[in-house]
Amino acid sequence: MSTDTLYQQLRSHLHYLKLTAVADALAPALETAERDRPGYTEFLAGLLKTEVDATEQRRLQGRLRFSKLPARKTLAQFDRDAQPSLDARMIDELATLRFIEERANVLLIGPPGVGKTHLAVALGHQAVEAGYRVFYTTAADLVARTSRAAIEGRWQTTMRFWNGPQLLLIDELGYLPMPGQDASLLFQVISRRYEHGSIVLTTNRGIADWGQIFEDTTVAAAILDRLLHHATVLSITGDSYRMRRHRDAIAALRPALTGRPQGGEFPSSQLGNSRHP
Ligand code: ADP
Ligand code: MG
Repeated sequence: MSTDTLYQQLRSHLHYLKLTAVADALAPALETAERDRPGYTEFLAGLLKTEVDATEQRRLQGRLRFSKLPARKTLAQFDRDAQPSLDARMIDELATLRFIEERANVLLIGPPGVGKTHLAVALGHQAVEAGYRVFYTTAADLVARTSRAAIEGRWQTTMRFWNGPQLLLIDELGYLPMPGQDASLLFQVISRRYEHGSIVLTTNRGIADWGQIFEDTTVAAAILDRLLHHATVLSITGDSYRMRRHRDAIAALRPALTGRPQGGEFPSSQLGNSRHP
């Protein structure tokens, strides 16, 4: 058989086996090999590494798409000096992602703008990059999706879905009050994941105030019981980072604004930049 025919056959084998990265790299790899004469093992190892790298990249992109994570934030971007209430060692410990292996939870508590979502999303991206299945949702979306599933007869599938990711990020619990029915849906998601998969949850309400988030205090207690059994709790008490950045600009604007004929205070809608609905 001619070299040309053999080459065509090899390419079709590679496509049949879906080794497309190797198929694409084949021609230049053979050319280089003709010149450099590597050993058989070295040549084969190099060629297959191409496929492994491409597969890893594809899976990473797939996990990232699946995760629904907002734009990438990193722990390195998190200014620790701006948040002295946070124990830096705890952030370093979370960054090891050991809590995911231990199926433990993380609770990020603090007022708006202090970086709760930033930290949660950064941990999420780190976990995706480390090969974990991650899913990001807000508490409101989680409840809406689960409630819809119950109505449309997809309860089991949806509960399996919530149990799928090794890390489930639940953002923004407590911004909206949760009626008893919704609280019980959230409880079921959390209790099924208990000792099965990790949850990172962010909330603007201290644990003592959870009775105010949920109409039903029994469910609130049950949710907290499951969440806190194996958990790291980070309370961030500092100022809003967003407001910190805007404060100087606001201060500079203030004389101009108060000098206006209609006078008065700085409009609260503009000051409320860091407030969530
Ligand atoms: P929260 O979820 O607590 O309301 P966010 O995480 O949304 O706050 O933070 C608001 C904005 O400020 C985001 O753009 C975030 O990246 C940034 N931010 C907050 N805290 C820090 C920090 N310590 N270092 C760097 N950026 C921060
Ligand atoms: Mg947030």
